[in-house]
Amino acid sequence: ASLTDADGDEQDPSNAKLTCRICFTGENGGERAKKMLSCTACGKKYHRNCLKRWSSNRDLFHWSSWKCPSCRTCEVCQKTGDPSKFMFCRRCDSAYHCYCQQPPHKNVGHGPYLCPKHTRCHSCGSTVPGNGLSVRWFLGYTCCDACGRLFVKGNFCPVCLKVYRDSESTPMVCCDVCQCWVHCPCDGISDSKYMEFQVDGNLQYICPTCRGECSQVRSFEEAVQELWRRRDEADKDLVSSLRAAAGLPTQEEIFDVSPFSDDEDNNGPSPGPVSKIEYGRSLKLSLKGLSEK
Ligand SMILES: [Zn+2]
Ligand SMILES: [Zn+2]
Ligand SMILES: [Zn+2]
Ligand SMILES: [Zn+2]
Ligand SMILES: [Zn+2]
Ligand SMILES: [Zn+2]
Ligand SMILES: [Zn+2]
Repeated sequence: ASLTDADGDEQDPSNAKLTCRICFTGENGGERAKKMLSCTACGKKYHRNCLKRWSSNRDLFHWSSWKCPSCRTCEVCQKTGDPSKFMFCRRCDSAYHCYCQQPPHKNVGHGPYLCPKHTRCHSCGSTVPGNGLSVRWFLGYTCCDACGRLFVKGNFCPVCLKVYRDSESTPMVCCDVCQCWVHCPCDGISDSKYMEFQVDGNLQYICPTCRGECSQVRSFEEAVQELWRRRDEADKDLVSSLRAAAGLPTQEEIFDVSPFSDDEDNNGPSPGPVSKIEYGRSLKLSLKGLSEK
């Protein structure tokens, strides 16, 4: 069945059978059917747990104003198309089909998504992934194509998580323990200290992560998670203003008003908070893109 099918009497409250348009499971009356939530636009019923999973990673999703997938349109094709293929911008909640992406994605990723208006490379600040049709965002939409490729090669400073190029103008020193290159300003290394390192090849340097002073990213999964943590922190004011503009309560209040406490007893997998695994999946998507070249 397609989400855009005409529904006939299926959604009529007098009819016993209610079908959730996300999982396509029907409910024949009973408590589970009663606890389903109606789309604020079309009135179709959805499981709370299905909606929770569907609404994760979306700053502007709110239980008082949500619209179901069938009531959203894509920013690119301006159609509802296949509503199960929507990706929602974590910041502004605008909808994009995965197949309307450039280049098209086969599937919807599980991690957070950012629309073209809200993507920005962590390293170089670029708001586009690069030039050409095949370029894509790396590491869960946090790095542009060029910076992402350097990152996965390991060419990044472990403190600021920004990549470096051969032409790097900021002085860097190499850690004698982990062999990572660290920007001098990222570890408060003065010009004179840097000169000492240059003059004396035997002078040992141990970076902040090896000294245990800053968290270490040990995998790309952890890198994506940490890059997103920093991105969310940097976007705090933007999120507040977007939420205010949408007439939504603050992030702190949202926990109290969400119907999370009144769950269906669902035997399916619990969506839970955004897990490392979900970030990892989106990362693999990016890496897959790399290997497809
Ligand atoms: Zn469902
Ligand atoms: Zn709807
Ligand atoms: Zn589209
Ligand atoms: Zn956006
Ligand atoms: Zn970049
Ligand atoms: Zn750095
Ligand atoms: Zn080190």
